[in-house]
Amino acid sequence: MPEPRYRVAIVGAGPSGLFAAQFLTAHDDVEVDIFDRLPTPYGLLRYGVAPDHTSIKAVANALARVFDNPAVRFLGMVSLGRDVTRDQLLAGYDAVIYAVGASEDLRLRVPGEDAMGSRSAREFVAWYSGHPDAEPQSLDGVTHAAAIGVGNVAVDVARILAKEPLALDVTDMPEDVLAELRRARLTDVWVVGRRGPQHASFTTTELRELCRTPGVAVSVNPEAFDDVDDDALDRRTRANVAVLREASATEVADPRVRLHFVFWRRPIELRGDPVRELALERTALDADGRVVGTGETEAIDVELVLRAIGYRAVRLPGVPFDETLGVIPSERGRVLADGTVAPREYVVGWIKRGPIGVIGTNKSDARETVDQVLTDLAELGPRPDRVDLLGTLAARGRAPSTFDDWRRIEAAEANRGASHQRERMKIEAWHELLDLVQAGRPGGPIPPS
Ligand code: NAP
Repeated sequence: MPEPRYRVAIVGAGPSGLFAAQFLTAHDDVEVDIFDRLPTPYGLLRYGVAPDHTSIKAVANALARVFDNPAVRFLGMVSLGRDVTRDQLLAGYDAVIYAVGASEDLRLRVPGEDAMGSRSAREFVAWYSGHPDAEPQSLDGVTHAAAIGVGNVAVDVARILAKEPLALDVTDMPEDVLAELRRARLTDVWVVGRRGPQHASFTTTELRELCRTPGVAVSVNPEAFDDVDDDALDRRTRANVAVLREASATEVADPRVRLHFVFWRRPIELRGDPVRELALERTALDADGRVVGTGETEAIDVELVLRAIGYRAVRLPGVPFDETLGVIPSERGRVLADGTVAPREYVVGWIKRGPIGVIGTNKSDARETVDQVLTDLAELGPRPDRVDLLGTLAARGRAPSTFDDWRRIEAAEANRGASHQRERMKIEAWHELLDLVQAGRPGGPIPPS
């Protein structure tokens, strides 16, 4: 086999990076190195898609096949900024694609937001997904919880809280997480939207699944439907409204959990530390369609508030970043530095377009970026002075983890699952992940930051 002409680095092994790798390596002359700061590939497929959403997880299995291609390498435990610089990456590859997603969450900016019991849904999702950086979450004493926001993340966390824990036993959640959910005594879960049901961003399948969770009685504040004109709605929102209407009209005998949707309310304060009350203000739209408070307030008793109001990407060291939009500025995937195209640099996924869209949205997004990469490579050719980045890392005693290391982690997760009659159980402790990486090498891995 002739040497591939082009080497492309992808930073981030989540769905957008993997779709990009798939498209690139459909061309025999391209070789791809996928870097990730974790020793585990798949990003949000592994640590964001809800563990009980096994059909979406199947997308991960399909995408995983990209690593069967010998032209694709996984290089784990390499962090841009800590282990390699932007300049080193650019010197080592003919093109670099940033695919790091959005790792921070938006904040409510209301008093009490930092009190104990107020958390981001991102942290909560990371915990139940077994992310090694996640803080353990205690549900001790939590009977009433609220999710702020009416998107799919709010739906995910509300469902995990409302679901009978035994129904989660089939998932790959770590045992400590399942044990905490089994201990929890949730009776009431609120989902709070600052606009109406017709404005909610959740997808109908996800909403329907939440509303049909066994043992859960659904209510919607009645005035939420007042201004809804079904004929003026698109298919998705009309279906969402129908699901909510139907669910709130359905009697559930002896419910285990009451799920309250509250629309046209915005949080104004979290009271108590730990939190015991969530103060809400009624809202309306002003003449310009902006959400404004009406001054009427009310409060609900809660011990847990999860803000699920959206994610935010963070600046990569040395890489152009638009702080206002929270994205790497780009033109169809070509990175822009001060408005001009930065040669050989590209972006894909949430850090390109913002934290919107489902996993599949990344496919067309990656296609667009890869088209630009291939066009530019054909014009620029390979970098004449390409530096061996892995050699540079090795000289500093830094050996990235490999796909074989990941296979070892996977096998250990399958073993752990088998001992609990489950297909797989996530390994969430850094030290265990590191031991498994270590087991495959004499030299020793890169320690996590
Ligand atoms: P999202 O869909 O953008 O929803 C954010 C919600 O927060 C909106 O209801 C928004 O209301 C509200 N919000 C924003 N700022 C607020 C504030 N200051 N106070 C009160 N409410 C506020 O975001 P997401 O739920 O984080 O999801 C991110 C993306 O991941 C979405 O594209 C989602 O579909 C996807 N996702 C998909 C799945 C799945 O397919 N199963 C699962 C999880 C996530 P406004 O509309 O009024 O701004």
